[in-house]
Amino acid sequence: MLLFALSCQQDLAPEFEQSGNLKSNDLPSAAVASVEDMDAQMLALLDGVNAFLESEGEDYRAVMAEYMTAAQGSEEAGRTVFFNNVGNKQLTADFVPFDARRSGWSGSVSGADDDITYAVDQVDAATPNGVSGAATTAAIDRAMTTWDNANCSDLPIVKNPDFGIDMGLVAFLNGLGGASPFILADIMHAGWTDIDFSGGIIGVTYTFIFIDGGGNPTDIDNNGKLDVAFREIYYDPSFSWAINGNIDVETVALHEAGHGLSQAHFGKLHRTDANGLFHFSPRAVMNAGYTGPQQSLAGTDNAGHCSLWGSWPQN
Ligand SMILES: [Zn+2]
Repeated sequence: MLLFALSCQQDLAPEFEQSGNLKSNDLPSAAVASVEDMDAQMLALLDGVNAFLESEGEDYRAVMAEYMTAAQGSEEAGRTVFFNNVGNKQLTADFVPFDARRSGWSGSVSGADDDITYAVDQVDAATPNGVSGAATTAAIDRAMTTWDNANCSDLPIVKNPDFGIDMGLVAFLNGLGGASPFILADIMHAGWTDIDFSGGIIGVTYTFIFIDGGGNPTDIDNNGKLDVAFREIYYDPSFSWAINGNIDVETVALHEAGHGLSQAHFGKLHRTDANGLFHFSPRAVMNAGYTGPQQSLAGTDNAGHCSLWGSWPQN
């Protein structure tokens, strides 16, 4: 069995002292799975995916799930929120410029540029609580444009057509919805209804990396990072989603797309003893928890993006 899985997880305080009006009743009231349970859920999903990919002789495997969680205990707002980040920095992964293995879904083999492509599932684009597919898609497009406009990088981020296909390899291979195993872009926003994490997880990004004929992860550009094949992003339909409210679609899309573009989490979670509220320091899109709308990149987000993409495609 080939399984290269790790995860990082984090939790969400019911209320925050910074922006937004996130109240505990925005969050699911059902009992929330423990971090260990959510890890186990993710590992089981990836296990099934990789077993299928191995049986099909595919040259990629799921390697990582980065997810943002929301937990609500029985206590009031000042309850203790646990925050763990167990991401293994030795197993980072990024896209390889001009990687012919991505030619089926990327712009990687044409011309002088090497586009990173994305696509947005239109089958699962509407949220169950009433945000239209047009509105979520526009929010995702704005988030991708925000990353595209990061001024240290000439990386072209280009939208691919969705062909009306219900995207989502992880969902499809686990019988959770989705209509096809097709890969349509380097970064696929797979929508709101395929995987319902039952209140524990706001959003998740799965990373798939290439393997060689012996089943070993590859690093063909010898940069010390595994070679990304593609990434999939899912949004949990059980939340109260909103445009410019809570939970803000553009904010979560911007965060998950940051993972899509190989960024890891950044910042530490602090608790203010006087009021029991929580905040991240420094505040950034790539903080490991949702703290209200954050639709523009902070300095650390730009710095992370620049270090990854500043010299692209000359890596
Ligand atoms: Zn994250």
